[in-house]
Amino acid sequence: MAYVVTDACTKDFVCVAECTTAAIAPTADDAKAGTVSQVYINPDECIDCGTCVSVCAQNAIYAEDELPADKAHFAEANKAYFN
Ligand code: SF4
Repeated sequence: MAYVVTDACTKDFVCVAECTTAAIAPTADDAKAGTVSQVYINPDECIDCGTCVSVCAQNAIYAEDELPADKAHFAEANKAYFN
């Protein structure tokens, strides 16, 4: 399992800075930062610590198995960003 960022993300990059495994991208200084509408979590790097959830003011991040039905497709979107 991994955590998943959804479209409620406003790209404040707070979670990116707090993630100890650098699982969230792009970073604020990445050239891609201006081209995406949200940040994404790499499921292969996420260790399910939950820190990103606790720092997200928008409540945009869910455990994959707790995603609302209308946001279930974001699990694949997060994974796809890193492929
Ligand atoms: S749950 Fe932890 S490891 Fe996974 S993306 Fe969030 S802060 Fe990073």
